[in-house]
Amino acid sequence: MNHQNLGISEAVSALFERAERRTKDVFSEIDRIAEHNTAKVLQAFWEFQVSDLHFGSTTGYGYDDAGRDTLDRIFARVMGGEDAIVRHSIVSGTHALALCLYGLLRPGDTLLSAAGKPYDTLEEVIGISGDGRGSLREFGVEYRQTELTAEGTLDISAVLEQVDETVKVVWVQKSKGYGWRDSLSCEEIGRLCRAVKERYPNCVCAVDNCYGEFVEEEEPLSAGADLIAGSLIKNPGGGLAQGGAYVAGKKELVELASFRLTAPGIGRHEGATLGNNRLMYQGLFLAPHTVAQNLKTAALCAAVFEELGYAVHPGSTDKRYCTIQAIRFEEKQKLIRFCQGIQMGSPVDAAAVPEPWDMPGYRHQVIMAAGTFVQGATSELSADAPIKPPYIAYLQGGMTYEAAKIGLMKAVQKLQDESLLNRG
Ligand SMILES: *Cc1c(COP(=O)(O)O)cnc(C)c1O
Repeated sequence: MNHQNLGISEAVSALFERAERRTKDVFSEIDRIAEHNTAKVLQAFWEFQVSDLHFGSTTGYGYDDAGRDTLDRIFARVMGGEDAIVRHSIVSGTHALALCLYGLLRPGDTLLSAAGKPYDTLEEVIGISGDGRGSLREFGVEYRQTELTAEGTLDISAVLEQVDETVKVVWVQKSKGYGWRDSLSCEEIGRLCRAVKERYPNCVCAVDNCYGEFVEEEEPLSAGADLIAGSLIKNPGGGLAQGGAYVAGKKELVELASFRLTAPGIGRHEGATLGNNRLMYQGLFLAPHTVAQNLKTAALCAAVFEELGYAVHPGSTDKRYCTIQAIRFEEKQKLIRFCQGIQMGSPVDAAAVPEPWDMPGYRHQVIMAAGTFVQGATSELSADAPIKPPYIAYLQGGMTYEAAKIGLMKAVQKLQDESLLNRG
């Protein structure tokens, strides 16, 4: 296809053609996983007999909301857990993760992060940054972390050295997040959980599953984790959920998290859905397909920047365990222009020019490019980056591969127009 009417030069078009040719085998593997996960979602919809009545709404306390309660069961089934809570009123991934932590940990307990520093927004929750008010530390919860190996992989023997009887929760972040590290496979997470439980059977293995859902054929719960949480404006909302997040896993642990969401004794039984049910169902139905579009976009992006001589993580043909693609720009200007170029290709707010800003919960300034139908959603093509060397952009999303490819082309074209490309 000729892209000149989109303002894309022949050189950039040709670059994308070369890159795309290298991703064919990867794409067929992505399609295979999407089919598997779609079947899993469909079977859950059949099992719980989803019908129009589930798309209804409640107000007030929201007692006996059939749509809400059935979606909880479907999520539990799809995620491979005993139970789940899925709510538009869990305001973000961080909120869901915090529900798990505050639900599980008590004064005197220790939280051990097994995959190095946890995601930035959890630092204030734990109390390792900020003034500590309201943090786990203020409640007397201790914190330790095990660093990843020099290669960015999980160091299970080092984790085992740090686990003792005070460690109530071992925390694992599946996705690289804002880090130049491997994302973790469910298999590896399972290995960690088994090793920990062999010594300390009561220790809870909890997983930050943000960006991990539907990337593999299984989820961390079926591999051995006890509790997982993630955001609905990332993978499992399929780009349609208007907000919200979920917690899934062992029944008693999900209940403890639900007590933090509302109050002990009330837990999951209150929470009006205010018209959100249908889009949450529809989003979950689409999610395995949308994630496949995200993964193809990420692989294409990796292939393009490999062709241009940039360091990328993971590589274009590497197996993927989350939907994030990291590109190392080395220079601030290149990073900012790339993000601005991604914005130019968005369906919404294409004329906006993103700039670095002090985003709540983050230590460095952050630039965020996302022209999305749902504010802050990253199922749609988005690129963001903390402004710090070596100036790594984290790209994710792409609701349709076609639109995401055009968005990527706009970004590369912008770099070319300003003579900021390493090559090409
Ligand atoms: C996005 C993300 C979070 C936090 O989710 P928010 O919805 O932004 O609060 C936590 N962990 C990881 C790995 C993430 O990608």
